[in-house]
Amino acid sequence: MSSAEVVIVGGGPAGAATAIALARAGRDVLVLERSRFPRDKPCGDCANPGSLEELRRLGVAERLEPLLRPHELRGWYVEAPDGSAFRAEFGRGRSGDAAPQLGWAVRRRDLDRALLNEAERAGARVRFGFRVFDVTRRGKRVCGVVGRSGAYGEETIRASWVVGADGLRSVVRRRLSVKAPQPRVKKIALVGHLAGDWSGSAGFGELRVRDGRCCGFAPLASGAGANITLVVPQAEAKQIGGDARGFLQSALNGFPEVAARLRLAALDPRVMVTGPFDVSVRRPSFAGALLVGDAAGYFDPFTGQGINQALRGARWAAVAIEAALREPRRERRALRWYALQVRRHNAATHGLQRVIDAVISRPALMSAFIRVLSRGESQAARRLLRVTGDLADPVTLLDPLVWLRPPLRATG
Ligand SMILES: Cc1cc2nc3c(=O)[nH]c(=O)nc-3n(C[C@H](O)[C@H](O)[C@H](O)COP(=O)(O)OP(=O)(O)OC[C@H]3O[C@@H](n4cnc5c(N)ncnc54)[C@H](O)[C@@H]3O)c2cc1C
Repeated sequence: MSSAEVVIVGGGPAGAATAIALARAGRDVLVLERSRFPRDKPCGDCANPGSLEELRRLGVAERLEPLLRPHELRGWYVEAPDGSAFRAEFGRGRSGDAAPQLGWAVRRRDLDRALLNEAERAGARVRFGFRVFDVTRRGKRVCGVVGRSGAYGEETIRASWVVGADGLRSVVRRRLSVKAPQPRVKKIALVGHLAGDWSGSAGFGELRVRDGRCCGFAPLASGAGANITLVVPQAEAKQIGGDARGFLQSALNGFPEVAARLRLAALDPRVMVTGPFDVSVRRPSFAGALLVGDAAGYFDPFTGQGINQALRGARWAAVAIEAALREPRRERRALRWYALQVRRHNAATHGLQRVIDAVISRPALMSAFIRVLSRGESQAARRLLRVTGDLADPVTLLDPLVWLRPPLRATG
């Protein structure tokens, strides 16, 4: 039977970042990933400025940038069903002359592979093609996982700590008997990639809401094309049948600005479908196990905050596990601390995402809201972008002055 001090299930951003932090702390870390990398993942491919801050804290941003050559994301253009729209930047750092805050638009198969390479560089072991299907326990304590790989068949791996970083449909979460209530938001997403070079654009991602559907467009690094993400009500899933690409192409006719680009470049043959997304988790920590990233709860992709949540969660998970390994008698405290961080974060970000979801699902309300945000470059638009860019706390949106102050003059 093989073993590791920490077994991490899933090699996405949550798993890779947890592995980097713990391996750097000198821990024996094993990442078990069911896919073979590089693998695609349904995502809008936009790491917001808060995610970049996390990558800097992790000490990998400088190495990843020249490798990935991401398209720099300055902000978002958002359009309501009646055609009213606003475009806002994430803003600048705290001091007046600070550089603009940027995000990265980068294809997930490239970002995730690069992050997992960093985990290996830091000393973590990675096993690809290993699918975990259960956790093992000694009494109430989790003490390992059971999985299967093509080469070795079924295998049990012992661990002092198991991290469930296995995404939205986490097996670890299910095996820990964490009940996730039925999703209240019933939507699915189709994600495709457009060939060509769209990197000459001004660095704004685009979001358009029309007829109950939402379409995102993000130019990626030079030569890497662009991401098209379409979110539709789950009821439309039946119409997809076996032809996700055909469905996406025909649905994009409702978004002529995006459909026009489809006439200029080819859509990748593979279109990914996923959903529903709304997974709420009450308990992310257990004796011997933590849930991180999407496995610890997710709401909706509209604001593009999932990568940040995964990286932040990884930072907290590494702190908690390191503290518990160093001083086992303080384990309960470390687990409580971790659960508090996750719950606080999820309550604030998912709470805001719920409000935004309520607005975008009411066309008249969304149009009125966007009209308010489109007055010049309003303070409210800028603040909203800072919050969804994970640069400011959602509670700062409750400041009435943000909504009453006159628009700012546009900055360069
Ligand atoms: C349509 C859509 C668009 C989105 N757009 C954005 C965006 O633009 N910006 C943003 O920040 N966020 C976005 N998100 C959210 C973001 O993609 C996720 O929040 C993020 O990927 C979470 O990272 P993670 O590491 O927790 O999970 P994942 O990235 O899902 O990684 C989980 C890993 O675990 C592996 N795994 C799963 N099960 C097992 C198993 N049993 N055994 C072994 N390995 C396993 C998987 O293969 C995978 O590699 C979007 C989400 C969706 C659905």
